Amino acid sequence: MHYPMRGCMLVVMDAHATPEDIQAVCTVIEDMGLQANTMPGPTRTAIGITGNKGAIAEAARLKLMPGVRDVIRVTAPYKLVSREYREADTIIEINGVQIGGPSLVVMAGPCSVEGRKQLLTTAEAVKAAGATILRGGAFKPRTSPYSFQGMGEDGLKLLAEARELTGMPVITEVMDTEQVDLVAEYADILQLGARNMQNFALLKRVGRTRRPVMLKRGLSSTVKDWLLSAEYIMAEGNQAVILCERGIRTFDDHSRGTFDLSVVPVLRELTHLPIIVDPSHATGRWQSILPMARAGIASGADGLMIEVHPNPAEAWSDGEQSLLPERFVELMEQVERIADAMDRPIQGRTKAATV
Ligand code: PEP
Ligand code: MN
Repeated sequence: MHYPMRGCMLVVMDAHATPEDIQAVCTVIEDMGLQANTMPGPTRTAIGITGNKGAIAEAARLKLMPGVRDVIRVTAPYKLVSREYREADTIIEINGVQIGGPSLVVMAGPCSVEGRKQLLTTAEAVKAAGATILRGGAFKPRTSPYSFQGMGEDGLKLLAEARELTGMPVITEVMDTEQVDLVAEYADILQLGARNMQNFALLKRVGRTRRPVMLKRGLSSTVKDWLLSAEYIMAEGNQAVILCERGIRTFDDHSRGTFDLSVVPVLRELTHLPIIVDPSHATGRWQSILPMARAGIASGADGLMIEVHPNPAEAWSDGEQSLLPERFVELMEQVERIADAMDRPIQGRTKAATV
């Protein structure tokens, strides 16, 4: 197997290393024909070395340089994704909305974009309740080929219009390498769906865009599979990756999936990437969304993805798990109390309270 990041190294600088020490190390790395990626952390700066195909012969030389505490090999199979590689949490900022920062983010909207009125009504409602990112599918991964497949570019145009009107960045799914340029033209965040988590061509392709990518966990994927998929995106140069737990397949069928919230603290240890949880797709039933959204925030996630529809009974997809706008308001009120206990304000609601 060709493994481009085999032997990935990290230069750990002293807490007291000067900017000149750091620069000198970077220069030596670049002189070796490799890339130096400087990552300031809360306690020290680390410099990741990429571009090497095997062990770095000159590692010993780096170890002797002023300000260098250690040169280590990143042991996790995923490198750029790992907490070893980057100590500080990754924070992704889009138009003033932060994902992975100290405050929480809520992404909400319909499963599918169905039309102008449906989308704009939902967008206004979720914004008023404190959502700061609008979701809506224009290309839909449906289990049956006879189900509604999404509005395509017309749906993307409506999302762009909703962004204009509300100021909310939009997230939407891209299912195919051939759609990437089109979707990236309209969307602020590219969503990679559960069914495409190991579509390696698509992972590499979105890795070459400059749009943040939210990677949903595959239906039967281990954490290692998931993080290696995130690594595919990052290895192409796109560092803005968000992970989204959306339920996995287990033996029980009391709900659509099993919402694996115990993965949140595990991911926190293994990776610096932001973590969003999606109780809508995980449980598949509107009655479970509110309690599991509370639990998701209590588990330490950086935010939520929630499906909301003005008339769930008539929704073209995922109606049974979509919340009425008034139920979404109730969800936000209850989640805010959990968020307070976690010392993590919800971004949209903080703004609402301070204007
Ligand atoms: C969605 O977000 O509408 C969706 C299809 O999600 P998932 O890929 O998690 O099923
Ligand atoms: Mn859906």
